[in-house]
Amino acid sequence: MPLICAECMHDDVASANFIASSELNDNSVYEVRCPKGHQSYVVLQQQKFELLFDIGACALLDGYHREAVSSFTSSLGRFREFFIRASFLQNGNTLNDIEAVWKQVAKHSERQLGAYVTVYMRECGIVPPLLNTKNIAFRNDVIHRGKTPERSESVAYGEAVLEAIRPALSIAKFKFARGVDQLTNTRNHNSVTRRLIPRN
Ligand SMILES: [Zn+2]
Repeated sequence: MPLICAECMHDDVASANFIASSELNDNSVYEVRCPKGHQSYVVLQQQKFELLFDIGACALLDGYHREAVSSFTSSLGRFREFFIRASFLQNGNTLNDIEAVWKQVAKHSERQLGAYVTVYMRECGIVPPLLNTKNIAFRNDVIHRGKTPERSESVAYGEAVLEAIRPALSIAKFKFARGVDQLTNTRNHNSVTRRLIPRN
């Protein structure tokens, strides 16, 4: 993650440069201490599924074709979670309601898939775009059976994941605009608060 000082940028946006880089972390909050003594925080607004897809793309560029498949797979799983949460928020459920539901499916990807198909059908009247059996078999061979895929296979798998996400993401942005907005802001707000005000 390239980082920039928010205060320097505020003073003079033209001369603000990337002053540091950091490893990606899981809460999307990055502390920046610049040479002028400013302290600030960078908060990524990207959802987890977006970051995971980018990580998969970087793995492909770096030649780690197995790791790309793993990250694309995680991206798809987290996208389904995002879709379900946005739908619930849009329909007036609270974050606490959603946590109670998610607790029942969080550790079981097949349950999450079932929830996603059900919510998608309720919202859109059709079955969502899903990976086909060939892509599922490929994913299982790579992740569970140690297959080393060729680059072209990993690229094709990444494209299949994108094809499963893109139409559903358009629907989420259109139909659950309030839910999407709430998810983005709440997530960031919580992680910043946790970071800035340590709780004992
Ligand atoms: Zn600065």
